[in-house]
Order: sequence, then C-alpha cells, then structure tokens
Amino acid sequence: MTEKFLPDENRLKAAEENYKRVLESIKESAVKAGRNEQDVRLMCVTKTVEPVYINKVLELGADLIGENRVQEYLGKRDALNLSGVERHLIGHLQTNKVRQIVGEVDMIESVSSLKLAKEISKVSSARGIETKCLVEVNIGKEESKSGVYAEALAETLYEMAGLKGLKVEGLMTIPPVCENEKEARRYFAEMRQYFIDIKDKKIDNINMNILSMGMSGDYEAAVAEGSNIVRVGSAIFGARKYF
Ligand SMILES: *Cc1c(COP(=O)(O)O)cnc(C)c1O
Repeated sequence: MTEKFLPDENRLKAAEENYKRVLESIKESAVKAGRNEQDVRLMCVTKTVEPVYINKVLELGADLIGENRVQEYLGKRDALNLSGVERHLIGHLQTNKVRQIVGEVDMIESVSSLKLAKEISKVSSARGIETKCLVEVNIGKEESKSGVYAEALAETLYEMAGLKGLKVEGLMTIPPVCENEKEARRYFAEMRQYFIDIKDKKIDNINMNILSMGMSGDYEAAVAEGSNIVRVGSAIFGARKYF
C-alpha cells in the first residue's frame, strides 16, 4: 500500500461515474419509498482502495468513509483529504486494537459484543472522550459473522447504557448473502422493526438515530426498508484487490 504507483485514469473516471450513479440511485430508491432523500447517507467504503481514488470521491463531495481495518486506516489517512469528512470503523474490531482506534474515527459501527463495548468505554473514559458507536446485529445468526443476536439486543443495550465514554447511536447489520432482493429485504425489514422497538423503549443514554444497512448489492432494498446509512464499496471503486 505504501509503494508508489500511478493512478489508473480509467479507474479514477469510473469511480467518479459510479459515485454519481450510486448517489442518484439512492435518491430514486428513497423517493420511491416515500422517504426524504436527505435522510439517507452514502458511506464510501474504502477498504483496500488506494488514497488517490478515495480522494477523488471526497473531491466530489463524499463526506463519510468507512474503513475495516485499524492498521490499514491509520496507514492511509495522512494521504486522504479528510477535512469535513466523517470516518467510521465498520470492520471487526478486536479488543486489543481498541486503544489504537479510539479517538481516531468519528464512530465505531462494529460494536459486536458487550465485551468490546466495555473496552471502548474503558479506553474512552480514560482519555476523557466519548466514542459514538453502533451495535452490530447478527441478523442471520451466522457463525461466520460477529454481532449481537436480535433476541439479546435489548438486554445488551441496557448494559451498554451504563457504560461511560460510549454513546450508542443506533444499529448496524450485514445480512446473509441472499439469492435475491426479496430475501435481502426481509432481513432489512426485520432490522427496521428491531430498530423501532428499541427506539420505543426509550432507554436512557441510548440513541436510536442510525440504522446502517445495505451494501453494493442490496442498498436499494435497504433504503426501501428504512436504512439511513448505506455502506457502498465495490459499486463505487470496483472489485477489491486484497494485498
Ligand atoms: C466491505 C464492506 C462493505 C461494502 O461492501 P461492498 O459490497 O463492496 O459494497 C460494507 N460494510 C461492511 C461492514 C464491509 O465490510
């Protein structure tokens, strides 16, 4: 990632066109669902993407990026034009990496357990800051994924509500890989219901403002079911090359 390379002009152009197209299609999906287009934010997911391509979409007005790995983000960020840009961590976070990331991003979306929340709380309060978080829900109960099961969500949130230095702002999910849009929509609809149910509980110190769901293959369905952050990577930057 640190080696020098010449940006691929075609890829730069593709990123620009894709970014605009995705924005347009989010708007269309929002309007179709009777929602205000302003209520859905596009997160550009930048894992494995070289800074030059990320800067291209930032230049076009992208104001939210998501990175998966702590190390990769910290290695790249100095090359990014991040002024006015919100940064979220969206990848699996190990407790031993919490110290490195707290204070470096605006939100951790991948809070997948109470144990992790406690560590974020400990590190944040020691530094006198508050870290905004989303609780990751394992909506398909997949062993391969992290996240709290829906059945345990309320109980987990009541515990998190008592943690200093941590502010829950909503929920995030990655549903199972689906055969079709209808199937994906069912998971998103389920998430929306949990989001509403939790919001109705009005738990002290827990906000339910953000419902982060939908990726390149299914963001339209997610918008139709109430998502307000869609996390889009490959539909903007192209297929990922892992290093
Ligand atoms: C990689 C990733 C995305 C984006 O995936 P695409 O299919 O490339 O849009 C979104 N959310 C999370 C948590 C991811 O890891």
